[in-house]
Amino acid sequence: MKTLIDEAKKTIDQLFSKDKFQVGSAVKTKSGKIYTGISINCQKMNLCAEWTAIGKAFSEGNNDIEISVAIRKKDDGSYEIYPPCALCRELFITYCPNAEIIISENKKVKASELLPHPWIKKVRK
Ligand SMILES: [Zn+2]
Repeated sequence: MKTLIDEAKKTIDQLFSKDKFQVGSAVKTKSGKIYTGISINCQKMNLCAEWTAIGKAFSEGNNDIEISVAIRKKDDGSYEIYPPCALCRELFITYCPNAEIIISENKKVKASELLPHPWIKKVRK
């Protein structure tokens, strides 16, 4: 857990910008590979760091996300672990419901527990 938190901190440290990049994320796949991501904020939309980290993993063919964390760097230079927003919870429930999500320094929960009654997209035939 600490290694993943440190990777997310390192990622946000490298690119922190008050207006554009405030959150770093790290995910680990079952193979042990760690992917990092960063939040992308623009005029009309914000993309959470979890999406960019998971996007990197998926684009390299690794969709077996085992654990995830997001870290916000504050203006004073301190950090806080960010529990996932509702859209990220939808992302996790769709692609990795069994992944563990770090929500504090010493607590992680299963993704499916973060969104206990998910909306399931119906596939038209
Ligand atoms: Zn989010």
